[in-house]
Amino acid sequence: MTIREHFEQMNARYKFLCVAVAAIVACTWQWLFPKTNILVGALLVAAVLLGFTLPISYLMFRCPRCGGSYQRMSKRQPGRDLRMYWDKWTECPDCKLSFDAPWSKPHEAGK
Ligand SMILES: [Zn+2]
Repeated sequence: MTIREHFEQMNARYKFLCVAVAAIVACTWQWLFPKTNILVGALLVAAVLLGFTLPISYLMFRCPRCGGSYQRMSKRQPGRDLRMYWDKWTECPDCKLSFDAPWSKPHEAGK
């Protein structure tokens, strides 16, 4: 498996996680407070997604070699390109690790 394929798989799982978290929060909210405005529930779901799943994406999508966060690297790039990192780049902007290189677990020690 290449690094690009690995991240595509992670992205599919991440989207599933977001939908699952949103559904659980929405259902729990409706069950606990059935009379509140639906907008309040929608805002709560948005807040949970921002506060809970965004930090996870920060941890999930990091370079396996230099450990850099792609989100942070993306913010340094000029313009707004909303494609996924492995679609707009062919390599890590920091350490030039190619996304076509085989995926191997990040080295836990040292970094
Ligand atoms: Zn890197």
